Amino acid sequence: MRRIAVVGSTGSIGRSALDVIASQPDRLQLAGVAVRGRIDLLAAQLTRGHPPLVAVWDEAQADRYARDTGRPVLRGLDGLIELVSHPSVDTVVFAASGSDTLIPLVRAIQSGKRIALASKELLVMAGELIMRLVREHGTSLVPIDSEHAALFQCLHGVPRDQIARLIVTGSGGPLWGLQAAGAGLITREQVLAHPKWSMGPKITVDSATLMNKGLEVIEAHWLFDVPLERVRVVIHPEAVVHALVEMADGSLMAQMSPCDMRLPIQYALSFPERWTSAVPRVELTRLSALRFFEPDRDQFPCLELALQAARSGGTACVALNGANEAVVRAYLEDHLAFSEIPRVIAGVLEQHRAAAHPNLEEILHVDAWSRAAAREMIASCSTS
Ligand code: MG
Repeated sequence: MRRIAVVGSTGSIGRSALDVIASQPDRLQLAGVAVRGRIDLLAAQLTRGHPPLVAVWDEAQADRYARDTGRPVLRGLDGLIELVSHPSVDTVVFAASGSDTLIPLVRAIQSGKRIALASKELLVMAGELIMRLVREHGTSLVPIDSEHAALFQCLHGVPRDQIARLIVTGSGGPLWGLQAAGAGLITREQVLAHPKWSMGPKITVDSATLMNKGLEVIEAHWLFDVPLERVRVVIHPEAVVHALVEMADGSLMAQMSPCDMRLPIQYALSFPERWTSAVPRVELTRLSALRFFEPDRDQFPCLELALQAARSGGTACVALNGANEAVVRAYLEDHLAFSEIPRVIAGVLEQHRAAAHPNLEEILHVDAWSRAAAREMIASCSTS
């Protein structure tokens, strides 16, 4: 029996993770959940049964939850750290979007927990540090991001010197084919209507700008220890092939499955086993075509910005991620136009002097700096 804690249980991935755990009662047990502050959703989510550990890392919301329910709750960042390193937990699913769970992730690895990681931002900011800690503490980190879950499956048992290239596919996001209409005319409804995946708002905006693919290149680089120039992005509108590995001899290994996050989540929890699942199957005869395109980097400048930061390396990726989180939040709160997103990120990257091999403290410092720098630029955008 694997005892799982889910960090970010009320988000899109977190809810799917709870479904997967409930679907495997003989193998998986929910040992704990953690949420940032959506305690109303949390209360609704726990009607099926209360897990032994509950953490709320927004302190005011934690107090409210304790008052409203009369139940014990682990409070704040310390409470979240207590949950992810608790002896009754052996596997932690990190599913909260954003970077504020970096310290808990580090503590979970240091406590020897198996990690199932959906929060790609954490690998973008701290991939070198995280993968080093995973090796040092002899634990495992299995990606949940669908492309990386696909690569992880294709690469199982493949020695690194036999990998020629990793190919990450993307559906193109909600704006693929609409860009000709002009970025200024793009509406919020268009941005938030992803054609293939139903996801949270942050990643849906990242999909619209293609920043998501840029973050995924950096994520693949750290996860699989493959040089950046050997990670390629292709647009694949059918979103059936989630990633491919080109082997040294030119052979291509692809992973295909429906767009259903329960599959990569289950595999991250079952690895190295593979269990049956209720996820619908791909019906090959219903696929009329599988198309692959080069991404248009002029129309999607955020992809190029991410690759630039990745080439600069070190803290440049921290600044990229912090600036991106700040602009996406400002866009979702209606403080920034869609067309200004790449401009603000580029401005923050220009101001930043990247340092190589940052430690945790340096990462957190650049993270805070880049958000503040982005917020300042956003304020000047809206007043000019
Ligand atoms: Mg993905």
